[in-house]
Amino acid sequence: MTCIAITIAGSDSGGGAGIQADLKTFSALGVFGTSAITAITAQNTQGVTALEDISSGIIAAQIDAILDDMNVGAAKIGMVSRAETIVTIAQRLRHYRLRPVVDPVMVATSGDRLLQEDAIDTLKAEILPQAAIVTPNLPEAALLTGLPVARTEDEMIVQARALVDMGAGAALVKGGHGTGPESVDILFDGQDIARLSAPRIDTRNTHGTGCTLSAAITAGLARGLSLIDAVREAKSFLHSALDAAQHMKVGKGSGPVHH
Ligand code: PLP
Repeated sequence: MTCIAITIAGSDSGGGAGIQADLKTFSALGVFGTSAITAITAQNTQGVTALEDISSGIIAAQIDAILDDMNVGAAKIGMVSRAETIVTIAQRLRHYRLRPVVDPVMVATSGDRLLQEDAIDTLKAEILPQAAIVTPNLPEAALLTGLPVARTEDEMIVQARALVDMGAGAALVKGGHGTGPESVDILFDGQDIARLSAPRIDTRNTHGTGCTLSAAITAGLARGLSLIDAVREAKSFLHSALDAAQHMKVGKGSGPVHH
């Protein structure tokens, strides 16, 4: 059986993040990848030089073209850019009863905004309650919950619980932006807390880590893994991708993880 996944996200011309990272990750994990592009960024390892939103009609048409034809096993949502786009995607999710992996992309590593500030409330109201799992990093979890950026694992647990209270099926609060020898993520699935740890890799080449992790979770779900197994496999895939990227030289800025 061919396992199929869809990514609904933005294009990164630099190939390190966004749709490009998602499709490479799906492929590496044995899943046939499809996409609906929400926005196009002109981007390289140093930052975003231009951004254009795709019209709602074309976003909906891409999703419909795939979902009306193919047996899609799992979906992910990445960069959604603006409120109008979020409302369109939320409507299509309801129509197809899709429960996606939601990566609440807000600001790129380079500091460029990828979600308009006034769209955060729309994301919380329209997308979060439909998420199978939401995968914020520490600053994103703080913005979504309205709490200060977590500094301890206990604070990460509080925020993971808060995200599930806000309607997400599960929450993975990622500690990659923290410090210390370990990179610790907290998963709350509505019942249990799991602590996932990997040795921290000290590299500048971290562009696309969030996209890659959420795409890898999606690939696991498309292949029928349980949520916890999909998250564990994804974390191990990202660890290998970061390890492989350590000595890679792509561009002059924050290089991509290696897919
Ligand atoms: N560009 C696009 C289109 C993205 O979807 C993302 C995802 O987070 C990024 C850039 C940011 O990547 P990073 O923060 O890993 O540099």
